[in-house]
Amino acid sequence: MNDIRRDIHLFVSVARIEASLHAHKLALQKIPAEIATVDKAIAELEAKENAVQASLEQLTAQRRNTEKNLREHEDHLKKYKGQTSLVKTNEEYTAMLKEIANLEQRIGDEEEQLLILMDRIEAAQHDVAKISEVVKAERAKRAAERQVLEAQQGNIESEVENLAREKPKILSEVSPPLLKRYARLAEKHRDVVVTRVEAEHCGVCRQQLPPQLAVEVRKNEQFITCPACGRILVHYAN
Ligand SMILES: [Zn+2]
Repeated sequence: MNDIRRDIHLFVSVARIEASLHAHKLALQKIPAEIATVDKAIAELEAKENAVQASLEQLTAQRRNTEKNLREHEDHLKKYKGQTSLVKTNEEYTAMLKEIANLEQRIGDEEEQLLILMDRIEAAQHDVAKISEVVKAERAKRAAERQVLEAQQGNIESEVENLAREKPKILSEVSPPLLKRYARLAEKHRDVVVTRVEAEHCGVCRQQLPPQLAVEVRKNEQFITCPACGRILVHYAN
């Protein structure tokens, strides 16, 4: 292999590394958002569960309150009924009967309200049980998704480290004049300096190349740059 072919061969390796690094960079940019989506889904489920739980607690508190009122009114009623024989005037008697009727009405209302509340509590308990089950299953599923994403992130990060270490080693073998040209281009194109041609288009800027130039790139025998973006063009298959 002559020097230029050897250099192009090295650039092919660099192109593969840069393409991988670029793809990894994009993937790593997406993962935090994907993790956030998973966390948000979990938070939404928990908020729903909390809301249902809170509504059950509210109903239970209403029930306790109604029961307390009912007991008080029943006590009053008992007390008034015991005192009817003690009243002395007609006026007092009429007032007491009115008070008794009033209390009986309230007690009736409260008993009715209690029945309604008990029905609603039963329904709410059912809702809580149902949603808790769903949340438990979803949480497990989401936690697994999160774990997969974190593992992916870890794998990509270590792959990036490996590739980033490998790249300068390969570049150090490129002959000095071409390495200098690479370095100059790298100032402008930080991530991808060398790219392959894909179906006669620059792999990065997508500019269509003149057919003859594409043919030359395919041979991997010359130092060729993209007429549009200036990146070094090489050929390699998948
Ligand atoms: Zn280009």
